Amino acid sequence: MSQEHSAEHVEEAEVEPTPPPELSEEARARRAAALSHVRQFGDPVLRSKARPVEVFDEDLRRELVRMGQIMEDSIGIGLAATQVGHLRRFLVYRVEPDSPINALVNPEIEWSSKEQETAEEGCLSLIGVGVEVERPLHVRVRAQDENGDVMVIEASGLEARVIQHEMDHLDGVLILDRTSRDQRKTAVRALRERERERAAATA
Ligand code: ZN
Repeated sequence: MSQEHSAEHVEEAEVEPTPPPELSEEARARRAAALSHVRQFGDPVLRSKARPVEVFDEDLRRELVRMGQIMEDSIGIGLAATQVGHLRRFLVYRVEPDSPINALVNPEIEWSSKEQETAEEGCLSLIGVGVEVERPLHVRVRAQDENGDVMVIEASGLEARVIQHEMDHLDGVLILDRTSRDQRKTAVRALRERERERAAATA
C-alpha cells in the first residue's frame, strides 16, 4: 500500500494532515529504483493466488528484509510477496515511520469487526491511483513470523487496513475490485493511459 493515499484518511483526524515532505532528488531516484522491482498493473502475477510458505529458511528471511527495503525506499507502508513476483504468502508492513518493519508469513484473518470504515487507498502496483475502499475497522490475524513461530495480531484503523490490503494481494485481489464501479472505471482509464505513455517513452 502506498503512503500518499492513506495517512490523511486515518479515522476522522481533526488536525490537518501534514503533507508528505518534498523528496530530495536522491530519495526520488531511490524510490524509482525500488519501484522498478514492484510489478505493475497489467502483470498477470498480480492476479495470481500465492501458495503457503512451508520452509522457513535463510532465503525467506533474506527476502523479507529485501522487501522491507523496497517498501521503505518506495515510501510505501506495505508490500506483499506477490508484488515482487513471489507467489508465496508473506508480506511486510509498517504504519509508523520509525517503528520496526513487521513481517507476516501465512497470515489468516481469524476475526474481523462488523464495523467498517471507508478510506482512500493507494497501491505500489497502481502508481498514481487512489480509490475508496470499505473494510472492517478491526481485525485479529493469525500468522507466523520469519522463523515459523505463530503470532496473533489485533489491529485497528490504518494497521488493520494495510494488513487486509496486503492479504488481498496474496489472493490476486486489487483495490480496484473493492471500490465502486465509477472509481474503478476512472482508475483503470488512468492506468491504461500511463501504460501507453510508458510504452511510448520506451519505444
Ligand atoms: Zn497494494
